[in-house]
Amino acid sequence: MNSGFIVLNTFSLIIALILIIVFFSKERVHHTEDNIYGNLLKLIFVTNLIGLILGLMLDVNWEYKDFIIVCVNKVYLILLIVSLTLFAYYTYCISRYFKNNSKKVNGLFVFFAILNSLMVAFLPLDVDSIGDSSMTSGMAMNYTLAVFGLVYLFLMFLVLSDLKNLKNKKFIPVILLIIEAITMIILQALYPELNYLVNPSWVITLMVMYFTIENPDIKMIEQLNIARDTAEKANEAKTDFLSNMSHEIRTPLNAIVGFSNLLLEDKSVPNSAKDEVRDIVMSADNLLEIVNGILDISKIEANKLEIVNTEYSFKKMCEELVALSKGRLGDKPIEFKTNFDPSIPNVLYGDSSRIKQICVNILTNAIKYTKEGWIEFKISGVIKNDVCRLIISVEDTGIGIKKENIDKLFNKFERLDLEENVTIEGTGLGLAITKKLVELMNGKIVVQSVFGKGSKFTVSIDQRIVKNPTIKLEETQDLSEKIITHNKKVLLVDDNKINLKVAERLLESYGIDTESVESGFAALEKIQNGEKYDMILLDDMMPKMSGVETLKKLKEIPGFNIITIALTANALTGMKEKYLNDGFDDYLAKPINKEELNRVINKYLNDD
Ligand code: ADP
Repeated sequence: MNSGFIVLNTFSLIIALILIIVFFSKERVHHTEDNIYGNLLKLIFVTNLIGLILGLMLDVNWEYKDFIIVCVNKVYLILLIVSLTLFAYYTYCISRYFKNNSKKVNGLFVFFAILNSLMVAFLPLDVDSIGDSSMTSGMAMNYTLAVFGLVYLFLMFLVLSDLKNLKNKKFIPVILLIIEAITMIILQALYPELNYLVNPSWVITLMVMYFTIENPDIKMIEQLNIARDTAEKANEAKTDFLSNMSHEIRTPLNAIVGFSNLLLEDKSVPNSAKDEVRDIVMSADNLLEIVNGILDISKIEANKLEIVNTEYSFKKMCEELVALSKGRLGDKPIEFKTNFDPSIPNVLYGDSSRIKQICVNILTNAIKYTKEGWIEFKISGVIKNDVCRLIISVEDTGIGIKKENIDKLFNKFERLDLEENVTIEGTGLGLAITKKLVELMNGKIVVQSVFGKGSKFTVSIDQRIVKNPTIKLEETQDLSEKIITHNKKVLLVDDNKINLKVAERLLESYGIDTESVESGFAALEKIQNGEKYDMILLDDMMPKMSGVETLKKLKEIPGFNIITIALTANALTGMKEKYLNDGFDDYLAKPINKEELNRVINKYLNDD
């Protein structure tokens, strides 16, 4: 027997065995094509083995040797046909024509393999010896060659019809197999005795398949990437959904808060009813805080929460925090102590609204979880060069936190000792958001607590000191007093009728005349017709033409110089800066906050 045959085929048999062991011993993904590859490996191993046995049989002289050799040869040809069909099916599965669950196509491949196997089994086959190797001929052999030709044409079709993706490494094994087949046809035409290269060439193809596409590690990484992309998309969808929801919830809340505030000012409403209206306002505020909390946490998780640094008045921020806390304390028997370090410069550079949010969270908790005694809100400053480290602490004589619970405090949705705290409202989001915000500003938060005695939350954050402030002094002054103005006219633009009504009533309470339109187009028409206004309150999210687009068109009108304020339920942090960048003079979030409205009216429509 030809020793080249034995060496080559034994070698390829060993390689096939190693591939099988490596492939099946690793954790794999189970796509159709991966399962086909596994089966193809086993099939080629068996084919290779039979090919080798066939070669060895030529040297042995048995009774019925010729008959047995013809039979084994037929089995060998059938195995080759099935392997090639399986390979064609594999290529189909990774081609652009593949559709999941296409049972008809699966059936077609199975039918093709069975039909051809039967044909080879029943058609006559001749085996002749040439030298120390053998030559097969006859109808079964011709039939096999015809099938091979057909399958190769099919493979070429799959590759050529997807030329765009030719760079994709998934077609490398297919192209290789086609090149191998052409080489073998040429070689065999020149040297007919070299008919033993079929098995090694198959094993080479399988090896290339393994290293280019089928290595379970490569597949696993692909799977993980797909899973990560899907998770990221789902998370983004969640954030989008939540910001949409927040917008939708804010719109009706705007009416609730707006009309309730008006009722509180209405002298004809009896005091008994006003108490209930106050409860409505408080509940609406709570709801708004929950919506904001959910929105914040989803933004934090999507890494979309940004710190927006601006110059701000430290003193004003402290005053607002004290006023807010006192309001929330109501008539609880708690002494509210404050202690602000006078050496802290008045104008600092940082994200004041987020610092405020942090303080509000820990102050509100102190108020919620303290029945009596005192709460101390203290801020001290450590100045180094142009940086002031703010050390903010809130200490209370409240219910305290058990030692074992301190670590859980900052987990989202975690609420401690629920049985005892059932009456205290909360979502368990406040401290999770607080911690993330502090970290985003490179600060630290520490908790000290004695269960039953009280707690102390300390936050430290660095803020830059502004030597030459660019914010106008008036902005650091109190503008929150309600004023009455005269002879002022404001154009209201909003697609929502109820929102228009709220704004009309609120502005009328300042003595301001209003005119309302329901679209940007109508607003443009009014200005083009030369109507005069002292201010425009412009909603952003309107169908067909948004507020931002409307403003752009307004600014194109020669001589347009009316103060334009964005009034929108798109109230994420950072939105104010966005709207100012878009060219608005100022920004009001819905639901309209009384103090904010006072500020805007005071600033732009004050008679003085
Ligand atoms: P919640 O909306 O429940 O207040 P937080 O995240 O703000 O959520 O707080 C988480 C939990 O930490 C609270 O449910 C409460 O059990 C506990 N906690 C927070 N602050 C205090 C405090 N000052 N005193 C006692 N317990 C507190």
